[in-house]
Amino acid sequence: MALPPGVAQRDFSRALGELANALGREWVFTSDEDLKLYRDAYSPFYGESEDRVASAAVAPNSTEQVQAVVRIANKYKLPLWTISTGRNLGYGGSSPAYSGSVVVDLKRMNRVIEVNDKTHYAVVEPGVSYFDLHRYIQEHKLNVWIDPADPGWGSPIGNSLERGGGRTPMRDHWNAVCGMEVVLPSGEVLRTGMGGLPNTQVWHQYKYGFGPLVDGLFSQSNFGIVTRMGIWLMPAPEAYRDGRVNVAKHDDLVPFMEHYAYLMNSDVLRGTMLLESPLLNYHASQGGSFFEMPGGPSIAELDKMASERNLPYWSAEFRFWGPPKVVDAQWETVKDRFGAIRGATFKDGRSYRFPTEVDQNDPTLTVALGTPSLGVFGLLQGGGHLGFSPIIPMTGEAVFKAQKVYGQLYAEMNLPVGNQFAALPWSYSPRALVMLFGIPVSHDKVKNQDGRRIFDKLVEVSAANGWAEYRTHVAFMDKVADAYSFNNHAMRRFHETLKDAIDPNGILSPGKSGIWPKRLRGTRGA
Ligand code: ADP
Repeated sequence: MALPPGVAQRDFSRALGELANALGREWVFTSDEDLKLYRDAYSPFYGESEDRVASAAVAPNSTEQVQAVVRIANKYKLPLWTISTGRNLGYGGSSPAYSGSVVVDLKRMNRVIEVNDKTHYAVVEPGVSYFDLHRYIQEHKLNVWIDPADPGWGSPIGNSLERGGGRTPMRDHWNAVCGMEVVLPSGEVLRTGMGGLPNTQVWHQYKYGFGPLVDGLFSQSNFGIVTRMGIWLMPAPEAYRDGRVNVAKHDDLVPFMEHYAYLMNSDVLRGTMLLESPLLNYHASQGGSFFEMPGGPSIAELDKMASERNLPYWSAEFRFWGPPKVVDAQWETVKDRFGAIRGATFKDGRSYRFPTEVDQNDPTLTVALGTPSLGVFGLLQGGGHLGFSPIIPMTGEAVFKAQKVYGQLYAEMNLPVGNQFAALPWSYSPRALVMLFGIPVSHDKVKNQDGRRIFDKLVEVSAANGWAEYRTHVAFMDKVADAYSFNNHAMRRFHETLKDAIDPNGILSPGKSGIWPKRLRGTRGA
């Protein structure tokens, strides 16, 4: 059995005994077989000594039991690592950042506390998955939709805290959070926002409460264990439709993104867009690259190829949800606006009035219609991957620059370049784009070493261009936090000042987001 670093075997045994008393023996896991489940199947350190392992795991069933776990951890200085459903794939799964941590697995806290379909919100515990919440809404015939992550087996709490995204107008998951219950490192319970009022009637309807806003301190952090969260939902729409916009030439992306940002920030476009390139798709299918590569064809040559093959250079599918008159007007407005680009073409897509049968063959549509799915796995290329996801500006120029910078890097690093998934941005957020690279990981140590080198380089090159990841794998949290270095790491110093004040024993998720408690600060980068 692995021991938490710095904890004597005798103390650890005592602590496990106390945890068993508090939770019941069957909810304290110490066997190798059980602990294997808390390893990252896609670890970049697979089979190496740096691979993150848990020393034990516990599964409390209530806020009071979480408090008991935290109090015992304080007594023995046990490092804890919190997970909701632990499906944080590509970012570490359920494995801790600090090896030897005791995983606090909240899967048993899986109650849907409330779904309100008049003011449109849900209140859930951490173990509630998107599937669970969707089922609850269906069973109770409630007039709201959720915005699932793809894939839908994770939890609204885990995904929102990590600031993940979906595909509907509610796709910015952190933005949809309203009112949380948090167990602090002291074991005390805090309710955020209007939850500060003991008999609050609006905890999950009004985000701000009174005084400094603290909700953000519990996102991507190790300042508390979230045991309950309010999440805003969207009213079930009457209608849905989608349509495609194509533009012919490389440089058309500049006005394309301007119109896109205008329509998005005018609430005409409201969902996630994945930018596509039928031309680059074709080029990649012929052994070419999805990036602008050194030694590759020039832009003029690619434009020529696009016109000869009658393939749009850029393309995107836009989705609309709401009253039928509104979605029709939105699509017309989109066509008017993009119609200003010479040669732009439009294609009407699917159109539904609910309830109705919908196209079952497109897993992205399933998710965009608020139904959790595992189907998106079928769209990913290859096996396991590490997610690398930098944020870039919402402009055509930024996409060109990213294509060039990452293309150069892909060439230097000898990475596969025919992957649209990696090379073009998404819009989870209304004013910026995100790229999602998948760096392959395997059970081959040499290949993984290479993957880690590539990852480090991606972080460094991104930072040199003013871009950085919005979220990262547990193995790279220090590296990514390093990039956010303005004013001699003022942000990290502030985080760690808070950490020392509220968690003096350094028990909660050491190393999360590069934040280490004082006693382990020498561990950074280990
Ligand atoms: P999901 O449930 O979507 O699979 P995870 O359980 O893997 O998400 O959680 C993702 C990350 O978010 C975890 O690694 C952890 O750092 C953080 N986290 C998850 N749940 C909580 C929680 N209830 N309180 C605080 N942090 C959490």
